[in-house]
Amino acid sequence: MSDRYQQFTSTGFGRTIAKRIGLPTPTPLRRYRPGDPVVDGPVLTGAAAGSRLGEAIAGTLEAVGAEVRTEAAADARYAALVFDATGITSSAQLAQLRAFFSPVIRQVGTCGRVIVLGTPPEETTEAGERVAQRALEGFVRTVGKELKRGATAQLVYASEGAERSLDSTLSFLLSAKSAFVSAQVVRVGRADAPQVDREKPLRDKVALVTGASRGIGESIAETLARDGAHVVCLDIPAQGADLAEVANRIGGSTLQLDITAEDAPQRIAEHFAERHGGLDVVVHNAGITRDKTLGRMDDARWDSVIAVNLTAQERINEALLAEGSPLNDGGRLIGVASISGIAGNVGQANYAASKAGVIGLVQALAPVAARRGATINAVAPGFIETKMTAAVPLFIREAGRRMSSLSQGGLPVDVAETIAWYANPASSGVNGNVVRVCGQSLLGA
Ligand code: NAD
Repeated sequence: MSDRYQQFTSTGFGRTIAKRIGLPTPTPLRRYRPGDPVVDGPVLTGAAAGSRLGEAIAGTLEAVGAEVRTEAAADARYAALVFDATGITSSAQLAQLRAFFSPVIRQVGTCGRVIVLGTPPEETTEAGERVAQRALEGFVRTVGKELKRGATAQLVYASEGAERSLDSTLSFLLSAKSAFVSAQVVRVGRADAPQVDREKPLRDKVALVTGASRGIGESIAETLARDGAHVVCLDIPAQGADLAEVANRIGGSTLQLDITAEDAPQRIAEHFAERHGGLDVVVHNAGITRDKTLGRMDDARWDSVIAVNLTAQERINEALLAEGSPLNDGGRLIGVASISGIAGNVGQANYAASKAGVIGLVQALAPVAARRGATINAVAPGFIETKMTAAVPLFIREAGRRMSSLSQGGLPVDVAETIAWYANPASSGVNGNVVRVCGQSLLGA
């Protein structure tokens, strides 16, 4: 599972050799440890004339104890550059982006952050404004590709009235928790966000994580428990021993169940109603691959992948969104898609269809969830260092790691941190999003 190439280039000798022959030198990414500050250096803020999010941005930066600067200094190294572009209403005004970023972009520090905020183009009324706001996407995705030393860039589209629900998203994107998330477009809607304990946002919450006995699911369970949740770890009975080990370690409990069983949605609903009196966070992580090119794909491979990765999730969500289900007000439904579901992948017609379906499920259920005071979102991981990817042939594995802006694979915890941001009660305005956790992989849009 270890990335030997990255270990080699993190030595002085290895780095010199790699640079000399023009190979990537991936920067070890800063990752969050409890107690770490959200940002570890000065933050330079700017805004286009007439922008509306200044107060919300200042509020978050103050709450996380950031050192805020509004004037650029030639000798500064910035932990983050944050620009409010909501005031940009024409293509000519896009020049304000260049004017702010060009002089300082090379001063972004190691694992620094660039965040641009705009208005969702589909919510604008004038064509000129829609064009200008849509243009922000190309700008931010390019910044993500040009940044060096593990730095990332994101675009946050905030609806009118989203000022009060921006905090959890800005804090996540500024922090080391978003280490492997880059060049993403996040939409935050108008919502009332409760005040939460920043160290334990999931205190008193009950979470379900499927496929929790190993890999990414294990890391999701650990991360939600770190944030204060009681985590019910679900997996198939054959994984019972590993499942119990994970649950014991994090002070959670277990539910042995095959999610494709006919009665699985009902058993899950009963389990939470009877044992916990409700359920707050559901993470549909369980997933399988059965790869074959389409001409050699048999029924069993096709059916099993669609059943585990998609149909089971649809049925469980349907049961949990129904009248009288144990899903509490403010519930969080979270899917795990894949960049294969966005870009497609040779040998994965079944898997890519199932993961694209997970994205469809988010889009279909976001309005339904909103009416129930809940949210539904998904992550789309790229190359993550797990047993699954360790089994991939060496050449393909190396290509998967290096063909991204960060030139490395992500860790299970990177997926888990993104899920924890969705799960946060303060993320009530984050609904219907699919965020890739892929280090800006070159695969897909
Ligand atoms: P993994 O195989 O290590 O873990 C999957 C878990 O799901 C296992 O514990 C398995 O027992 C469980 N599971 C499978 N079928 C089940 C069923 N019917 N009922 C209950 N549990 C079941 O996989 P992983 O690499 O940790 O991946 C986790 C998720 O992330 C999957 O949905 C996968 O498609 C997705 N993903 C992974 C990567 C990656 O690079 N590893 C990339 C993109 C997406």
